[in-house]
Amino acid sequence: MSSSARTLVPGGEAPGAASAGDGGCAAPDDPLCRRYNRLKLTLELAEIGLPLVMLAGLTFSGGAAALLRYAERADQVAPGGHWAGHLVFLVLLGFITRLTQFPIQLLDEYWIERRFGLSFQSLTSWLWEWFCRSAVCGLVTVVLLELVAETLPWWPLLALPWSILFLLFRPIFYDYIYYPLQAHFYPVRFLRHETFTLPGLGKKTLPVYEVHVSHKTRRVNAAIRLRGPKTAIYVTDTLIDEFTDGEERLVMAHEFGHLYDQLHLETQTRAGIAQAQRKLVLGSAQLLAGLVSLCLLHFLSAPLHLAGVADLRGFPLLAAMTLGLSHAFAPLICQEARRDEQDADKYALAITGDVENYCSVMRKLREINLEEGAANPISRFLFCTHPSYAERVNLARQYRRRHSPRRKSRNWRGWRNIQRHGRR
Ligand SMILES: [Zn+2]
Repeated sequence: MSSSARTLVPGGEAPGAASAGDGGCAAPDDPLCRRYNRLKLTLELAEIGLPLVMLAGLTFSGGAAALLRYAERADQVAPGGHWAGHLVFLVLLGFITRLTQFPIQLLDEYWIERRFGLSFQSLTSWLWEWFCRSAVCGLVTVVLLELVAETLPWWPLLALPWSILFLLFRPIFYDYIYYPLQAHFYPVRFLRHETFTLPGLGKKTLPVYEVHVSHKTRRVNAAIRLRGPKTAIYVTDTLIDEFTDGEERLVMAHEFGHLYDQLHLETQTRAGIAQAQRKLVLGSAQLLAGLVSLCLLHFLSAPLHLAGVADLRGFPLLAAMTLGLSHAFAPLICQEARRDEQDADKYALAITGDVENYCSVMRKLREINLEEGAANPISRFLFCTHPSYAERVNLARQYRRRHSPRRKSRNWRGWRNIQRHGRR
């Protein structure tokens, strides 16, 4: 599932162990899960760090200058300027960056997944998918960077409107380019409609689509894409196969929780409005990172013998600094995402009152997706967009303590629980 959707579980994050007496929520901590998540964490850190070192190294070592000289030979065929040479330079830069990531992604997405029995995708199939994703994302990135590279010499602050355009263009890219490409590898079909009541908003009905992933993986997941009237829920066929009707309903309730969060908590409650404002600021973190990087490059130009921020020999360093600073916002972004997921869990518990199926869903998610018992502090700090297993189980325990079994279904205390949480 894409990171731009709110998912039920993360891809490779680490939840925690449950204590005794939690009403059927406990699951044993598994050394296999710990090994799997430790390897994933190492590779995720390498996937972030290596391209940064490589890109910065290209500028510092003079490799970018050599690459630019080679690319400028293309100017001979370009009428009216150096744009073709710049384009070749950016394509080569993108190619080298993806090649740096390739061995890590091969280990992370193919080798480990197969070794731990999560995936049964063939190498050819993985390579083709990786190539298509790289080509599409790379092409769009190169076009955007070419626009920035050609206009930076006019006025460096033109990077600002380009970056804003990039932020606006991102959802369009996902809806019209990336998701259709994903659907080519993981076919999507309409499953059914689901209806839940959102307190204060009335009944809402959403379409549910099934994503066919079982030909490549046994992972289970669900997500909601919040797109106004086009909002829809997506569940993997593996989830439909593994989960009972009651568990499925709990999953749907969790996804409706995200809709309730967006439509009610983030517009009607003080804490929700504050969170929406924080998310808006964090959503433009890349923009801020780009601007700060431009300023840093401006001051580094003289010691690095660059002609200014528009000198393409400094472009790899600019990209490295922008990516590095963007990652610096990750702990805050993850913290807000975990808060959203907890809101969705609270909604699911309050609207269904079904602690048994909630616990069963969490246990199955953990067992099937090999989620760890306790979150590794580094993993939690940098990558965890969902509460840990222990936190989710603890939520169920708290809910059970507050609600007697006789009054668990759709009672007024359930609603009051959501509303109290909304004022937090
Ligand atoms: Zn969720």
